[in-house]
Amino acid sequence: MTDSQNELSPEHQVEAARKAFEQEFERFARFTLVDLEAAVAEERALAELRTRHLGKKSALAATKKLIGRVAPDQRAAFGQLVQATEAALVQSLDQAEQSLKDYIQNERTARESIDVTLPGRRPRFGHRHPITLLREQLEDVFVALGYAIEDDREIETDFYNFSALNIPENHPARGWQDTFYTTDGFALRSQTSTVQIHAMQRRGVPVRMIAPGRVFRRDTPDPTHNPMFFQVEGLCVDRGITMAHLKGTVAEFLRRMFGPDTVTRFRPSYFPFTEPSAEFDFSCFKCKGSGCRICKNSGWIELGGSGMVHPNVLRIVGVDPQQYSGFAFGFGIDRMTALMYELDDIRLLFENDVRFLEKFE
Ligand SMILES: [Zn+2]
Repeated sequence: MTDSQNELSPEHQVEAARKAFEQEFERFARFTLVDLEAAVAEERALAELRTRHLGKKSALAATKKLIGRVAPDQRAAFGQLVQATEAALVQSLDQAEQSLKDYIQNERTARESIDVTLPGRRPRFGHRHPITLLREQLEDVFVALGYAIEDDREIETDFYNFSALNIPENHPARGWQDTFYTTDGFALRSQTSTVQIHAMQRRGVPVRMIAPGRVFRRDTPDPTHNPMFFQVEGLCVDRGITMAHLKGTVAEFLRRMFGPDTVTRFRPSYFPFTEPSAEFDFSCFKCKGSGCRICKNSGWIELGGSGMVHPNVLRIVGVDPQQYSGFAFGFGIDRMTALMYELDDIRLLFENDVRFLEKFE
């Protein structure tokens, strides 16, 4: 092949280089652009074509070295032929390249452009859950009374969930407080009293704190029960704390939540972690005691449990019950939410039905 090529005259070799180029270039001249990706690919192919036909190793570049084989009186004409051929190739390539670049530029602008006349999409703001709203409200009341807000883990050891709260193994209270266990023997806390133990271990006494949070019980869901619910527990330990402080604190809290006329009453009860223990009720905020659907015509609403912290609980966190005493109380936040919003079914609070939740904005 090389021999036969060499047999061509220099002029013919220039002509051959031009023809070879035109053959390959033809499809670029006829090419119809369909999309941006195709155009980018063509731009690349065109750049390769330019290197192949105008680069240092191209056939056309080789013809420049044939000047010695041209008769002296034709050398000027040969030089012009090579230059003109090269210029023609460059022009064809430049034109094709420019139209590709224009096309790519237009496509990119079209893709990236934004229609500023379209109306904006308004972000949909969420709002707090009714339980959160009530929790914040009661936190405000207790903070105003000088209480700290404590939070802690929801998965507990048996010690914190039961033993430290004066509920030894085989104690009947473990039955109604039965919770969920992991395979490693950890328990989902069945009351936020666990936080009181952690707080006293960490901060010592005197202490005044409330612990709002999620708790768990092995209950079958029904209109008044849920296996997961929210509770708040309060604890006050100091020298000389009596039942009078407990009654005063709970009564003041309920007055601030439900109005200055709210009356509180205590009924003797039993809890393993308090002695003596009492349940507390308050006068119905709806009917003011005359009887209605919310208070089941009794005029009273049962809310929670309370009592003086059992000496065993103080001892276990290293507090001397001869020197210190304290009270504790607790009630369900979601139960209170259900009462305040007159919900017949507590489960509505956990079904995440936006139509329901939006009513509490
Ligand atoms: Zn009532």
